[in-house]
Amino acid sequence: KEKKVMHNFNAGPSVLPRSVFEQASKAVLNYNNTGLSILELGHRTKEFQAIMDEARSLVKELMNLDADHEVLFLHGGASTQFMQVPMNLLNENETAAYADTGVWSSKALKEAKLYGNVKVVCSSKEANYNFIPKDFTVPGDSKYFHITTNNTIYGTQWQSIPKVDVPLVADMCSDIFSRQRDFNSFALIFAGAQKNMGPAGVNLVVVDKNILGKVDRALPTIMDYRNHIKEGSMLNTPPVFAVYVSLLTLQWLKQQGGIDAIEKINNQKAEMLYSAIDNSTLFQTTAVKEDRSKMNVCFVMKDPSLEKQFLDVAEQHGIYGIKGHRSVGGFRASLYNALPLSSVNYLIEVMKEFEKNY
Ligand code: PLP
Repeated sequence: KEKKVMHNFNAGPSVLPRSVFEQASKAVLNYNNTGLSILELGHRTKEFQAIMDEARSLVKELMNLDADHEVLFLHGGASTQFMQVPMNLLNENETAAYADTGVWSSKALKEAKLYGNVKVVCSSKEANYNFIPKDFTVPGDSKYFHITTNNTIYGTQWQSIPKVDVPLVADMCSDIFSRQRDFNSFALIFAGAQKNMGPAGVNLVVVDKNILGKVDRALPTIMDYRNHIKEGSMLNTPPVFAVYVSLLTLQWLKQQGGIDAIEKINNQKAEMLYSAIDNSTLFQTTAVKEDRSKMNVCFVMKDPSLEKQFLDVAEQHGIYGIKGHRSVGGFRASLYNALPLSSVNYLIEVMKEFEKNY
């Protein structure tokens, strides 16, 4: 029986290279010939310490971080960071600025309101979040300015990072390690691992240690970033498997040539797909052209009654996960790092074939 080739365009969780899944599977049975599963290996052993150390230092290397920026692997999804960020950075009588560019931004700012004042300096909500606002000012007394670099649901992305005079905080869940940014210009970056980096269950947090320790409130031990820094990201039992698989993906990324190299391929993938959509008579994108995401390509059909048929055809061709999020409809092709260029080519062929037949 012929093996079905799957082209994984799913928005998450975890679109990782096959080689990483293979290595991870072996490690579940027998990690590095220890005779022990990676899941049962003590987290205080030298073997696991080496995994944690290498994962943290590879993040530093790949993101070209300076000595002030600490790398942590913390429990919980990115949603935990929606709370942990203001808890650590914002006093009750102070204000944080937020850009509202989608559901994840609005969820983040909702949590911040529990800890201090929130000023929404811009929003694209009225346009169903199909663009990134350009005209706004961030008050100079804001404790920080929070942006979501890539809006997974709406397929928009900040193409350049706004220049502001206050510490910049970014949710990079869905474009982490996919493109270069000046990562040192951020005071804090967080990302749930589960798209470009590893399995769900671990957050990457990159934090400039100089912004910590300035709030008055008593912080629960586990919520205080400084405790995690002090303990080398091993304050309590870390999500060992998620950290290990993240390390494998980071090693893979380094072998590919790092962020510069993967960004070139990601640009190519996005350009190919957007140009196929722009040149088609059936499909059109939902996001404003200049803000279109290179990670999540959202598109619909000019005749919505054809969408179900196209989805069926795509599924028959082993194209997985392109149904759009319910708040946008249509389709979303996620082009994460591990998705090969050939899969994008294949999707384009299937779209063209469909167009010819209808
Ligand atoms: N932020 C962004 C940009 C996301 O895409 C997601 C999930 O897809 C989240 C936050 C929420 O992450 P989690 O489910 O890990 O809490």
